[in-house]
Amino acid sequence: METSVPDSQLIIAIDGPAGAGKSTLAREIARRLGYLFINTGAMYRAIAWKAADERIPLTDAEAIGELARRAVIDLTGPVDATRVLIDGRDITTEIVHPDISRNASIVSAISAVRRALVARQREMGAAGGVVMEGRDIGTHVFPEARLKIYLDASAEARARRRFDEDLARGLAPASLESIKSEIEARDLRDRTRTDSPLTIADDAVLIDSSNLSIDEVVAMILTLVARRG
Ligand code: C5P
Repeated sequence: METSVPDSQLIIAIDGPAGAGKSTLAREIARRLGYLFINTGAMYRAIAWKAADERIPLTDAEAIGELARRAVIDLTGPVDATRVLIDGRDITTEIVHPDISRNASIVSAISAVRRALVARQREMGAAGGVVMEGRDIGTHVFPEARLKIYLDASAEARARRRFDEDLARGLAPASLESIKSEIEARDLRDRTRTDSPLTIADDAVLIDSSNLSIDEVVAMILTLVARRG
């Protein structure tokens, strides 16, 4: 795929497993640079939400693929208060539920779903000036992105962050152990699916955030942006 992106308007791809801190990081980088922030996980979550709303079983790949082609997903709002809408309905708060996390990883393995959402992600990012985060951004959505980050962290650190996030959102968190096994089950599914599994792009910069603060990771990435931009 060819895109023509001015040097000053990079596509920044951030990939990595669940709970590595990609959204917080991508949002902060986008805010600092005045770029668009696109959380592609929210799009897979929106499809999982809509499938449940329409009572489509997750095993019905054909119906879910069709749903992904027809649904209108909007990621709107300022970078630090983005909203997720599907067919005009605001589902921002509903899609953080753990059932949706699991179901999003199931629907994301359906090739027709990926084709529909990846086409939209390419449209949204084509002009550059975007920080896009997910699992396959640097490997598949924008393999030509000038800056690719693979953000990793230990399963313990990721479970601990999810636990703290749930608390901050006012959700009653599950035990650390059960969050960790939910994250590991999701990672395994994301890494082993046939279509665009989670892998590290050859030209990605690998950052392990287990023992780094968000500010430290932001500073590292802004240095990389300054070098490549
Ligand atoms: O990033 P987040 O945890 O919100 O993503 C939810 C699920 O959506 C992931 O577990 C993964 O299965 C799927 N996903 C994907 N490709 C992306 C982004 C998310 O398959 N680019």
